[in-house]
Amino acid sequence: MTDLQKRGDRSPVPTDWTYAPAPESTDIVRLQERYGLYVGGEWLETKDQFTTIAPRDESPLAEVGQASEADVQNAVAAAREAFKSWSKLPATERAKYLFRIARILAERSREFAVLESLNGGKPIKESRDVDLPLAAAHFFYYAGWADKLEYAYPNRSPKPLGVAGQIIPWNFPLLMLAWKIAPALACGNTVVLKPAETTPLTALLFADVCRQAEVPPGVVNIVTGDGSTGAHLVRSEGIGKVAFTGSTEVGKAIQRELAGRDISLTLELGGKAANIVFEDCALDQAVEGIVNGIYFNQGHVCCAGSRLLVQESIHDQLVRKLKRRMSTLRVGDPLDKNTDVGAINSKAQLDRITELVQAGTDEGAELYQPPCRLPEKGWWFAPTVFTNVAQSHRIAQEEIFGPVLSVLTFRTPDEAVEKANNTMYGLSAGIWTEKGSRILWMADRLRAGVVWGNTFNRFDPASPFGGYKESGFGREGGRHGLEAYLRFE
Ligand code: NAP
Ligand code: MG
Repeated sequence: MTDLQKRGDRSPVPTDWTYAPAPESTDIVRLQERYGLYVGGEWLETKDQFTTIAPRDESPLAEVGQASEADVQNAVAAAREAFKSWSKLPATERAKYLFRIARILAERSREFAVLESLNGGKPIKESRDVDLPLAAAHFFYYAGWADKLEYAYPNRSPKPLGVAGQIIPWNFPLLMLAWKIAPALACGNTVVLKPAETTPLTALLFADVCRQAEVPPGVVNIVTGDGSTGAHLVRSEGIGKVAFTGSTEVGKAIQRELAGRDISLTLELGGKAANIVFEDCALDQAVEGIVNGIYFNQGHVCCAGSRLLVQESIHDQLVRKLKRRMSTLRVGDPLDKNTDVGAINSKAQLDRITELVQAGTDEGAELYQPPCRLPEKGWWFAPTVFTNVAQSHRIAQEEIFGPVLSVLTFRTPDEAVEKANNTMYGLSAGIWTEKGSRILWMADRLRAGVVWGNTFNRFDPASPFGGYKESGFGREGGRHGLEAYLRFE
């Protein structure tokens, strides 16, 4: 190690910095006590309800409808009816609605951000600066495509598929809604969307955006409920498309269910991304990228950089820097503007993280968590890093979907590629090196839908996103994202 590196590693750890609480007010959010389903432009009561809660303190927020099979059929029928006129609207008219939605989301972004953090547990900093701007940008982007489909696919006469059944997870509730609804509507489809059981509230608030934008009744329908509601949607007659984001297990079940039916399917499933750090990289920048890659949104990110592959020569130095950086992460109230790591989304997810972390320790990996005081109520998990991880360990193979990083090493670029690809998943990867040529060489060989160079978790509506292998198929975003909602004659 050089003298300079030694000095760098001796700088004091700033653990004595404290921040005054900076809570974001929740006044801007007006919650109803009870929500029905948004079907055909109206609110329909359901026979059964469930309570949706705030992960930060387990307090109840509202009663939400549990959509039955008949409710789902109703919603599909409303969407089919609306499809008749929506698909015939001049494309420039469809675009206007999408632009309106984008503008209203931007105008109401604070309200949405607070609600997203309240219901999902993610830091307000992230819902405010990432989820909301990206959701609005997605509608802006696809509004622009609506009247240009003939140019995107010249001589292929693109046509909408009909009613799209869309099922989304709890980690980016509004953003996943935008990824699903914006391209579907731009292409002339109508939709029935089922948000995740634990995070229905921003989707229900989105129904109010549709009302405000005067989207014709039945073009957007929101049905809340648990997995059974999703299963009813997949099984229902009258849909032309299923778009699913969630676990590989449920994705496989949906694919089996749709086998033999003339229904177009896209699946965006799990991931176990490699974040690959070469010895020639800008180390401090890489540390920031590693932290962003795995602790962003508590690691509830399908493309999270959960496997850190470090070139052996810089392993010790990098791990030291990483641990020091981890000690400055502020864990706590999602609605505090200084919070870096918020609440775990649900008790079930916390149990899954806890189980896998225990497996990591049992299998012999070395655990580190910076000292941090976790709130008493609610669900929390301290930022965690495992060193001495073997490729065969469960924590190197299974998606943890929490703030847990596994560190492995490599010596040569070939070995890095081999280890990075040694997974059933293939959603994303990161490469940190000074050499542009090496980034291209690696990107050619990595079996991952998205490869980031000297950055991580960077999203843009113009850029397609999707998986290889068991991370699913089909692309969302960009011109590719249109194809998922079109048929060609
Ligand atoms: P999940 O069960 O696959 O949930 C995704 C969506 O599918 C939710 O809306 C869910 O409803 C619904 N669903 C559940 N069972 C269904 C079925 N049989 N048919 C149709 N829809 C169904 O995922 P999860 O339970 O939220 O999380 C489990 C694991 O999935 C996580 O640990 C993580 O590994 C992975 N995951 C991946 C992503 C991603 O972005 N790729 C996102 C979230 C989770 P309910 O909410 O009511 O279950
Ligand atoms: Mg589930």
